[in-house]
Amino acid sequence: MNNDQTPPVSNFIRNIVQQDLESGKHDKIVTRFPPEPNGHLHIGHAKSICLNFGIAAEFGGTTNLRFDDTNPLKESEDFAQAIMNDVRWLGFEWTELRHASDYFPQLYEYALHLVQTGKAYVDSQNAEAMRSSRGTLKEAGTDSPFRDRSVEENLDLFERMKNGEFAEGEHILRARIDMASANINLRDPAIYRIRHATHHHTGDQWCIYPMYTFAHPIEDALENITHSICTLEFEDQRPFYDWLMTQLATGGLINTPPPKQYEFARLNLTYVVTSKRKLAQLVNDHHVAGWDDPRMPTIVGLRRRGYTPAAMRLFIERIGVTKSDAWIDYSTLEGCLRETLDSEAARAMAVLDPVKLHIENWDALMGAGHLEPCSAPVHPHDPERGTRAFSFGADLFIERDDYAEEPPKGYFRLFPGNKVRLKYGYIVECIGAVRDADDRITQVNARLIPDTKSGTPGASSVKVKGVITWVGASDGVRAPVRLYDRLFKESQPDGGGRDFIAALNTDSLQTVAALLEPSLAQAAPGQSFQFERLGYFVADREEHQKGQPVFNRSVGLKDSWVAV
Ligand code: ATP
Ligand code: MG
Repeated sequence: MNNDQTPPVSNFIRNIVQQDLESGKHDKIVTRFPPEPNGHLHIGHAKSICLNFGIAAEFGGTTNLRFDDTNPLKESEDFAQAIMNDVRWLGFEWTELRHASDYFPQLYEYALHLVQTGKAYVDSQNAEAMRSSRGTLKEAGTDSPFRDRSVEENLDLFERMKNGEFAEGEHILRARIDMASANINLRDPAIYRIRHATHHHTGDQWCIYPMYTFAHPIEDALENITHSICTLEFEDQRPFYDWLMTQLATGGLINTPPPKQYEFARLNLTYVVTSKRKLAQLVNDHHVAGWDDPRMPTIVGLRRRGYTPAAMRLFIERIGVTKSDAWIDYSTLEGCLRETLDSEAARAMAVLDPVKLHIENWDALMGAGHLEPCSAPVHPHDPERGTRAFSFGADLFIERDDYAEEPPKGYFRLFPGNKVRLKYGYIVECIGAVRDADDRITQVNARLIPDTKSGTPGASSVKVKGVITWVGASDGVRAPVRLYDRLFKESQPDGGGRDFIAALNTDSLQTVAALLEPSLAQAAPGQSFQFERLGYFVADREEHQKGQPVFNRSVGLKDSWVAV
């Protein structure tokens, strides 16, 4: 990866880490990436991964992968496995693999500590009463009638919650902080609730589960995380994070200094949605073929689309880390893919919308049925990668729009009387075209200009303005090529809480029967190519038809994502 040599762009989190090391606050930094295993990771998570793993690696620290599996209802082992694959694929390795559910016993102990020290109580109001007593942004909340229960009563009730004596919602454990706090998150937030659910790790061992906002800081502390990096929506939770850390540090239950939370702006990418829940909806309602559909902004989807770890890391580095929410244009992501593939991808010729080109004088000049071997470099800037071979004959295929009966201004390709070079082959002069009963062109005719083969002394004897790509009829390989368009018609499909399903582009996949030069028949699954003049394409990882590859268009050669 060539951007490895360039020093990382600075950002505010990096600066904080650097200061904390220089001041001696920490000898070594520890970060964590804490996904909930309730879906596949998306490009937004890639930002968090690159940030957490990248900063730790840069400063000689370590990073844990922690599955935040405290919600028993939505999570699965398959998703956990997929998340591990995605992190590794991006090029990172965790030091320790943890599960929030491993901490259930400690979380329970720490909740007990809060109860014992009068910092938590069992509330028995129903959900409605609890909501209305919370107050509003302008008005203070009011104390629950259960707020002053004795420690003994709270211990007894909490124990019985744990033992399964109550129904869901009957009681809840709340931190006892301040119902009049200006920050609603400090108005006695819930920390443990009853859920009679089977957990995919702990089975039926527990029927009370900690709230994320309670569990997360403690997990950070138990793992000696130094910098707990999260997205901006947790900013208002930071006072509770610090409150909890103070209670536990005072009680001698956690190491000091306790972890600190830092927030950065989540990634919003235009023309996609980045929320596991919304992506799950696209999959479950069959709007896409699966989590790895190449139109999906998931890591598996982007990978199948032809994205490489290098392209994704370059993108994340380029967009930077800030504290203000913004939408990043999808074209930025595509630009990074082009940039990383340009030096890597083998070149090949392909015709996506083929029409036959017949060279009328070929047999007369070259001998009936003659096939002239032609070659081209695998990569124009890397001769060591060798050449690819294909044959030129009387019949070839060209793109339908490389012929125009009446050429518009500035059109230098095939039209009656015009000469063009067939790349790596000969110069031909166009004669005209044959049409069928529906007036559709079935064949374009041309004449060979002899002795103009590329790479021979006569090649420059005739000057032409147009060069077009082609595939020989004798050795061209037919294969399905899938052309993708943006998944949503609107740049911010879920902006302002809109129904993103209504913004779906129902025309985002078109499959064409293309013709490919013979070198492409051997493409390995996942191998990327630049189809000359057309863009970057990848041999699909999953689908091969009768031993032949199916290609996905990764990205065009130029930016076509102009705003609509
Ligand atoms: P989702 O709504 O997609 O499930 P989440 O935040 O609930 O997102 P988690 O699995 O809990 O998903 O997230 C793991 C980590 O990834 C968190 O630290 C979270 O802040 C971060 N993350 C999630 N989405 C983004 C995003 N769009 N940009 C940056 N970081 C993100
Ligand atoms: Mg989540």
